[in-house]
Amino acid sequence: MLAGISKHFFHFLAGSRSLQRVASRIGMRKPTSFARRFIAGETIDEAIAAALVLRARGLLVTLDHLGENVTTADEASAATREYLAIAESMNRADIDRNISLKLSGLGLDVDKNQAIDNLRTVLRRTEAAGFFVRLDMESSHYTSVTLEIVETLWREGHRGLGVVLQAALRRSEQDLQRMNALGGRVRLVKGAYTEPRTIAYHRKADVDAAYERMMRLLITAGHYPAIATHDHVMIYRTRQWAAARAVTPDRFEFQMLYGIRRDLQAKLARDGYRVRVYIPFGREWFPYFMRRLGERPANVLFVVRSLIREKRE
Ligand SMILES: Cc1cc2nc3c(=O)[nH]c(=O)nc-3n(C[C@H](O)[C@H](O)[C@H](O)COP(=O)(O)OP(=O)(O)OC[C@H]3O[C@@H](n4cnc5c(N)ncnc54)[C@H](O)[C@@H]3O)c2cc1C
Repeated sequence: MLAGISKHFFHFLAGSRSLQRVASRIGMRKPTSFARRFIAGETIDEAIAAALVLRARGLLVTLDHLGENVTTADEASAATREYLAIAESMNRADIDRNISLKLSGLGLDVDKNQAIDNLRTVLRRTEAAGFFVRLDMESSHYTSVTLEIVETLWREGHRGLGVVLQAALRRSEQDLQRMNALGGRVRLVKGAYTEPRTIAYHRKADVDAAYERMMRLLITAGHYPAIATHDHVMIYRTRQWAAARAVTPDRFEFQMLYGIRRDLQAKLARDGYRVRVYIPFGREWFPYFMRRLGERPANVLFVVRSLIREKRE
């Protein structure tokens, strides 16, 4: 029954302010609260603690400070300063210098030029400290502008940044050629947003087929690509494809989300592959959390079970 609940429904709930208020009060309050399965915590210190645990298991990390779609220039500047402080804390803690961020969080909806300047400010500091910054890909509304911004900054000489392409979008195979020609680092994902049929594949088989085609191109012609999926079939095919072409495991990495398929993360690391875990943290965790429920409605049962357990404790 749960499988029938659509992604649309969870995206609709993600916009509900009252649900967000209730969830925010209870989702993080204890170490066992339901949101902590997928979100490391609300502070940078909690994210660093999670990163250290993963590092001890032989996993790499990237940190994502949750907060999307800021609506004023002041909020965008504050988010930029926050990223500089996060980079500073990561530096001090000596964890992987790898950050994932969203351009809407740097003010893309407010003023494109300001968002680019904010990104330049982040990059100037992070590149000097040896960081890599990945621009997460948001809904299709942002695809063209995100790729253009990457190209602009690339031309200016910035090399410490990369992009994400979503196999679900019909345009992505062409975008991949464009990013490969540029020399940019690509993270390949299936795509977390609901998009119209005119521009996106809707059947899982079509998304998977596009994912596999793009994976093949990335492994043979990409620049240290990230194959980001929990789909064991896609992971198996990536391993096969790379091995058959003598592409060694140090020339690409697998990526997975915090709290999802931890068994598979550990197995791949044991098998000698690089596995990077995407660690989201921050007070604005609700929309991210709802996207994860939308991908796998069975997670709702996990939330319900956590709530019942908390009530009993
Ligand atoms: C590191 C990383 C970064 C990402 N960045 C972006 C981005 O910038 N933009 C974007 O649009 N999307 C991003 N995504 C999300 C991505 O687009 C997919 O929505 C998500 O990864 C689920 O697809 P899948 O490849 O795992 O395959 P699916 O076919 O959806 O799932 C395969 C299997 O993985 C497991 N699984 C998948 N999702 C869940 C879940 N939520 N809970 C529990 N089990 C699950 C299940 O066992 C499932 O059968 C990112 C994903 C990863 C791993």
